[in-house]
Parts: sequence; structure tokens; C-alpha cells
Amino acid sequence: MLRGQAGRAGNGAVVAPRRRVDDDGGRLGSRRPGRSSDRRGTASQARDLGVRGPVGGKTGTTDEYHDAWFVGFSNSMVAAVWVGFDTPAPIGREAYAARVAVPIWADFMKRTARVRPPAPFAIPDGLRAEELCSVSYLRPVEQCPTYVEYFKDGDSVPSALCPVHKGTFKQQATRAVQGFFRSLGGKLKGVFRR
Ligand SMILES: [Zn+2]
Repeated sequence: MLRGQAGRAGNGAVVAPRRRVDDDGGRLGSRRPGRSSDRRGTASQARDLGVRGPVGGKTGTTDEYHDAWFVGFSNSMVAAVWVGFDTPAPIGREAYAARVAVPIWADFMKRTARVRPPAPFAIPDGLRAEELCSVSYLRPVEQCPTYVEYFKDGDSVPSALCPVHKGTFKQQATRAVQGFFRSLGGKLKGVFRR
């Protein structure tokens, strides 16, 4: 897994994890809208710990806190931190990866950033950024809190406007028209196919 991340991120240094562990879902750099709270949680934690620049990563914690790990990367460095005992035993109470592994990773990344400063990731061809509402994951209207989601060629990009936030008068009108066409549903599609 680490080697995979190193390959993707470029010329990263490799620190091998010692045990395989299950995944507990916390991560940075998530591409799934539903996980954005996880992403923000770990990302803002890394920022609070002084990590600067674009970074990504993934936490993991095993049952009963026997293992905690974080694999994270910038475009110039990949580092995996594993915390645990050689003879498996609980690390401690509430020893989540975010609590015990991420701070070690953040400290390492801050030190190495002086030697290998991180730069923005190159965006692959065929990938495009779309601003979406961070509540509905649909196209934003005026009052929506937004985030940027990346889509590759062939992905279905949301076309409907956010129904959660009010929007300008024009956006309300557009949404009403979209709703009208959607309510016609299959009948209308059938007409267009002929
Ligand atoms: Zn919205």
C-alpha cells in the first residue's frame, strides 16, 4: 500500500508499516462527497499540528486499539506511521490513529518539508474540478457552503441545483424548471428517443 502511494505521489521516501490493519475510515484527500466530514476532521487536525501545503492520507485503527496507523503524503514525501506493541496489546484508551499516529506523522512531515518542500499536485489529464454544495452535493446556489470535487472523463457530474439552500430568484426559477422536467420523467425521455 505504501509503495502504491509512493508511486502515485512521485518520489516519496518509504517507511514500511510493520503490521496489516483494518481501515477505520478517517482520511484526507477523500474523493467521495459523503466522507467530507472525515476529510475535514483529519485535514484540519494536520493543519493545527502545523502541516502546510497539499497533503493526503489515511488513518487506520484495529480492534481494542492494538494498532494505529497513518499513511500520508505530499508530492515530495510519503510516510507511514505505525503505533503498537511487538506482542499485540492495547496501546491505551481511545488510542485512535488520529490521536496517536497523526501527530507523529505531522512532526515528521514538518521536519522533512524543510528539505523537501511540498508543491501542488499535478492534476492528471481528463480530470476537472467542479464546485458543489457541501450539504446537498449538487450544483451550488448563492447561499451554499461549497467545496471542490474532482471528476474524471465519463463520471456523471451533478446537474441539478441544490434544493437545500434558497439561492437567488433566478436560481429558484431554474430549479423549478429542472423539477418540472424531472417530474415528466420517463414519458419525456421516451418522446426524445423516437
Ligand atoms: Zn446548498
